Amino acid sequence: MILPNMKEAKIRTNKKVNISKYDVDSKYKNIGNNKKYFIKTYGCQMNVHDSENIKALLEEMKFQEVYNMEDADLILLNTCAIRENAHNKVFGFLGRVKHLKEIRPDIISGICGCMAQEESVVNEIKDKYKWVDIVFGTHNIHNLPSILNDSLMKRQQEIEVYSIEGEIVENIPVKRDSKYKAWVNIMYGCDKFCTYCIVPYTRGKQRSREPEYILEEVEKLVRDGYKEVTLLGQNVNAYGKDLDINYTMSDLLRDVAETKIERVRFVTSHPWDFNDEMIKVISEYDNIMPYIHLPLQSGSDRILKLMGRRYTKEDYINLFNKLKENIPNVSITTDIIVGFPGETEEDFKDTLDVVNTCKYDSAYTFIFSPRVGTPAEKMKDDVTIEEKNKRLHILNESVNKYANEANQRYLNKVVPVLIEGKSEKDNMLMGYTDTMKLVNVSGSDNYIGKIVNVKITDVKTWSLDGKIVK
Ligand code: SAM
Ligand code: SF4
Repeated sequence: MILPNMKEAKIRTNKKVNISKYDVDSKYKNIGNNKKYFIKTYGCQMNVHDSENIKALLEEMKFQEVYNMEDADLILLNTCAIRENAHNKVFGFLGRVKHLKEIRPDIISGICGCMAQEESVVNEIKDKYKWVDIVFGTHNIHNLPSILNDSLMKRQQEIEVYSIEGEIVENIPVKRDSKYKAWVNIMYGCDKFCTYCIVPYTRGKQRSREPEYILEEVEKLVRDGYKEVTLLGQNVNAYGKDLDINYTMSDLLRDVAETKIERVRFVTSHPWDFNDEMIKVISEYDNIMPYIHLPLQSGSDRILKLMGRRYTKEDYINLFNKLKENIPNVSITTDIIVGFPGETEEDFKDTLDVVNTCKYDSAYTFIFSPRVGTPAEKMKDDVTIEEKNKRLHILNESVNKYANEANQRYLNKVVPVLIEGKSEKDNMLMGYTDTMKLVNVSGSDNYIGKIVNVKITDVKTWSLDGKIVK
């Protein structure tokens, strides 16, 4: 049993990152014969992509994926720790898994992802959820075959969660959810330690993948017919800073664009590391999409400082304006936290002021959620929950107004859309514009996987309707 330790997870040294290559161990390759697995994924794109790796590892062991939990022999929850409600959802879902296990005790159940990296959560699972068979962390994904094997052989709860700075394991197989767009990790972890955030503890130190591995992966995706890649990292603009070669995010963006993949995206950009060279490269290449997610978090300099964000309201607005001026037609979205400890009415007004200045295409808005072990958890917080809810409501009204205005500008325009599949709306297809607007269109299934021109015929706050034009 290897339990997580938040103190160790916080340590950062100059030790060189170990890069190894995953190789399937033949002794595990039939563990899943005639067995089915179900995986439920919570949280960000990083987790979605980890689940794509987990699925491929399981399928190498001959497990088959099912989409109905009741049909599965192995049930895995890939969890998110970013806010309290993500926790609650997982513990709520565990109740359903327990019920199934009471009927079929042979089911193997497991928890992985960011919650598995949290000391308090794993202690609770160890003490109160003894029926959960396996727990493994974000640094242990490649060990899943041996963890599973041990659990089956020993019939006891297996917990393997390293609290390390982290290594890089190349070559982990992947079963991608889409045939047209792919997630590509360019870096792991984060060293920014924003005071509210659990990520640096759950994902380890910033480790950039070497460019050769990334480019090899993108080139293979091009050969396999993929149309779009999204380069993933907590802080992609800092890519390369931890490598001892002189190679940065702008170099990587240029090289990825040169593979001629039709669409290149990247998330997430921390405003602090966004430099002019990157803006230049984005504006030079037509296949780098004019869409940037630029988290603000707060518009108040006082709160930004308490958050450890290392930019001011003015820095942020200057960067925002530079992006708008230099990247034609760019759409910009953001993340905002309200109710950070000690946030005053004045601080909140500063946030609203930035929203009114930037008029975002869209924004993810959250109420501050204290995370065990982070500095902000211990900050004095005298803002009532009623006040926080009120601020969130006011903020959302502004965000929605600007999202709708941004979408209105698309009416009657013809825009390129990568058709990804069936829409939730009857008999419609869905896809995204270059600027990341969701579009519903009618058309035959032959369009799926193609980039087509769509004339926008109707506009809603969160989506557009259109028809395909030749
Ligand atoms: N790396 C990205 C950045 O620097 O902005 C953010 C990654 S985080 C997974 C996604 C968003 O969750 C953050 O931008 C922040 O708005 C929100 N978030 C993180 N910790 C939070 C907390 N403790 N309470 C509320 N929201 C939080
Ligand atoms: Fe969390 Fe992003 Fe800050 Fe890193 S940069 S600590 S992931 S909010």
